[in-house]
Amino acid sequence: MKLIDSCWINGLEVKPNSDLVVEDPAERVPIAAVPIAGKEEVQLAVEAAQKAFILWKSLPAEKRSEALYRLGLSIKAHRDELALILSREAGKPIRAAQSEVESSVDFLLYCAEEIKRLRGIAGDRFFILREPVGVCAIITPFNYPLSTLVTKIGPALATGCTVVIKPDEHTPLSTLLIAKLAHDAGFPPGVINVVTGPGIPTGEALLDHPAVRAISFTGSTETGKLIYARSSQFVRRLVLELGGNCPALIASDARWQSHIKAMVQQTFKNSGQYCYRITRFIVHESIYEEFAENFVKVTKELKVGHPRIPETDLGPLNNQRIYERFCQQVERVFAGGAKLLCGKLPDRKEASSSYYCSPMVFSDIPENIGVAQDEFFGPVAFLFRYQTDEEALRLANASRFGLAAYIFTEDVNRISLWMNNIEAGSLWVNSIHQARFEAPFGGYKESGLGREKSFAGFEAFTELKTVYWNVFEKT
Ligand code: NAD
Repeated sequence: MKLIDSCWINGLEVKPNSDLVVEDPAERVPIAAVPIAGKEEVQLAVEAAQKAFILWKSLPAEKRSEALYRLGLSIKAHRDELALILSREAGKPIRAAQSEVESSVDFLLYCAEEIKRLRGIAGDRFFILREPVGVCAIITPFNYPLSTLVTKIGPALATGCTVVIKPDEHTPLSTLLIAKLAHDAGFPPGVINVVTGPGIPTGEALLDHPAVRAISFTGSTETGKLIYARSSQFVRRLVLELGGNCPALIASDARWQSHIKAMVQQTFKNSGQYCYRITRFIVHESIYEEFAENFVKVTKELKVGHPRIPETDLGPLNNQRIYERFCQQVERVFAGGAKLLCGKLPDRKEASSSYYCSPMVFSDIPENIGVAQDEFFGPVAFLFRYQTDEEALRLANASRFGLAAYIFTEDVNRISLWMNNIEAGSLWVNSIHQARFEAPFGGYKESGLGREKSFAGFEAFTELKTVYWNVFEKT
């Protein structure tokens, strides 16, 4: 199948210009040029979505379920092609790209089933209708272009909403292919539209369109705040999935040895460009040295390399902005007095030729350099020591973020203390695995607003309408 390199509006390719070059970050070569959509294209896309909404919302849920099911199967049939596109535009190791495609298929099939269970409520002479909210803007980031996309469009389309998607400017190609596959799978024109381009002008043109009833956004906390502020003029429904700086608490009685590989994986996955990755390890002082030694040993086994080599664990960072920001962050940590246990500080001067970084582990981090307040979107881990359970809790919560946390201990009282007091939307106790479809996912504090996945993720795209009714009795 040929690459789709145009905006996708009302079931058609629309190409006003080819001003945005999409680069393969591993090879630093252009792979496509897509349009920078302006107000005009956004207007066309929102109008198409408004028109299609009338038809789409009035279909029985089973019909929308069938369409999602067909889309899931079509993605499965094109999985190799999609995985390659994902790997090329995101710089993602090919195995990881394949598993992102597979889990995206599974999520769409889950949505196709879950919509059958969503219903209103009947009361005494009133009932509550659950209705789709309307045209939704879907804005996604570069790090998981496909899974963040389906997490939003699955429930949105299932509930009867229509969408205008703005993918990240570095990774639009997988989204455009999904729009084409959806079209071929029988989604009516206008139900799914894609406008390509950066935050300014494309994203902001969407934010400023009064017919957009809801925005589902995944990206940085800074952009999330801007969307929050800008949406106030329309009192718009919002789901914001934002940044993280997730802690793992390792007690002296933890069986950390059996989790060490999974911990390293959860730290450096996607080269650290992962919102619920572990950034800070808060380790009891009695096991700190042994833990650090083992953590470094396993980290050193990771292979940094070309994303299409199957053995690669870490590909390059996605783009120059992310690479330079990461260089500045770790330079600041190093200058602040933290000790580098392994890895090499990336060189900002290399930004013109390469975005590869070796995984780094820092220890002895002074608290006053603010490591807990920054999101580190690159391969780095920070090791902290603690003495008491309360101190561990204080360190864990000393962040403006609250996306996820991980605790490792065999003591039920400690589990209870930490579980009930950690400020995070998801918590893993003595385990690490991917967030489940049927469980809500989202952040406390500056990590976001609302929840995705599960029943809660469907509710976000609906409004409740209470209908009081009276039966006229014959006189
Ligand atoms: P970003 O906020 O810069 O960009 C994300 C998206 O927003 C892109 O499509 C971008 O073009 C768009 N955008 C940027 N400025 C805009 C504006 N003014 N108006 C409208 N749209 C605009 O994010 P990033 O740093 O490139 O992406 C990574 C971020 O995503 C990280 O902070 C990460 O933690 C977060 N993330 C969160 C989750 C989660 O579930 N909480 C999942 C994945 C990624």
